[in-house]
Amino acid sequence: MECQQLMSQPVGVEGPSGCGGAEWVDRFDEARAWEHVRALSYPRRVGSLGERRACRYVRRRLEEYGLECRRERFGVPRRLRALVAWGVMGLCAGLVIGGGWLWRSAPLGAGVMWLVAAWLVNRPWAWAGRLRRSGEARGIRSANLVATQRDAALAGAPARVVFMAHYDTKSQLLPTGLRVGLVYAAMGICLVLAAAGVAAAVEPTPDRVSRLAAGYGPWVVVAILGVLAANVTGNRSPGALDNATGVGVLLELARSWRPSAGEPLEVVWVASGSEEAGLDGAWDFLERHESWWREKPTLLVNLDSVGAGDMVYLAGEPGSVALAEEVASRLGIGWARLRVVGAAMDHQPFAAQGLCAVSLLGDVVRHALVLHSASDRPERVEHAAMRRAGLLAEGVARAWAARYQRPGRSGSGLSPNTESEIGSRDPGITAYA
Ligand SMILES: [Zn+2]
Repeated sequence: MECQQLMSQPVGVEGPSGCGGAEWVDRFDEARAWEHVRALSYPRRVGSLGERRACRYVRRRLEEYGLECRRERFGVPRRLRALVAWGVMGLCAGLVIGGGWLWRSAPLGAGVMWLVAAWLVNRPWAWAGRLRRSGEARGIRSANLVATQRDAALAGAPARVVFMAHYDTKSQLLPTGLRVGLVYAAMGICLVLAAAGVAAAVEPTPDRVSRLAAGYGPWVVVAILGVLAANVTGNRSPGALDNATGVGVLLELARSWRPSAGEPLEVVWVASGSEEAGLDGAWDFLERHESWWREKPTLLVNLDSVGAGDMVYLAGEPGSVALAEEVASRLGIGWARLRVVGAAMDHQPFAAQGLCAVSLLGDVVRHALVLHSASDRPERVEHAAMRRAGLLAEGVARAWAARYQRPGRSGSGLSPNTESEIGSRDPGITAYA
């Protein structure tokens, strides 16, 4: 069922401010979450030994916490994606140089080639990212870890929450902001060249325009494309913030928080693989469990780079983001919506289909230069930020459960977390925590 339909349905007796079917079996302990960050901070790129080691670590913890954990494997067409991206960049460079050659004899033709090049500049990543299943048969494989409670009765709960956090990492030579800047620069020069081509077809152009179009202009674009092509993905980032903090919070929730017996919430904990290579884990999870979203109201809460800053960023399907905003406000947590072009997150495959999905992030804007770099180390992680993310994730799940609570039931209410420094700002927290 689409999220908008769900959000407009009448809700349970208590409404979003009531107590959902869950309780803290122990205090959310950010020190434990940080121990997971420390234990997981080493390069974990898709297909590497580090990734497999991280997968084993997460699986052991989930099983220690009494959950039933299974591994769902899938293929990652990593090399094919790189080839497609380089192929499109090569085609783009060919068009730009070809336009320079054509300039004197057929300026309009040159202009059209440059226009096509301007459109192609941003395509390599978009097209490569769409390649998915083709890598299944052989090549690199990754896996999601999917954990559920052993109590079969919970499967009959009227609502479901999926907590997700990706455990893989990647590093890149260029910071993301610089890469985006270069793409826009190449696109802008191509558009200027295209305009010059059209103008030259109408009337003779000044010498300096000719020097740009048939001389250095195309070569500047080719140089930029060369830098972008050399910006290959590596395995140097220890990925403390992105995303050992998300996994640390996921594991600490898996340890300290449970739906209470007979109360309406089925919870699934998912450590997803291959987010950085193209959201492969999220896509696989969505396709494999497609029926879940029709079965009962299901909300995905994705935790990504949650361990920094003193506020949270929210992104996702609008209704789910609004729910998270409402809960954050009640908990006295500062929030803002994240709108960054080109940033991919695990909620996206779900939100794109109109399903209820929201990503909770830390202050990724202020730490943008750290992400995907060798300096994404545990020293940068802030305990309070992880605690904030844990309480917000739990609060959102509980508000979701409360919407679909059966009449006549009420939650147990208070918990050790109520006395937290965050909660004390707003008495409304008792409705959630
Ligand atoms: Zn991430």
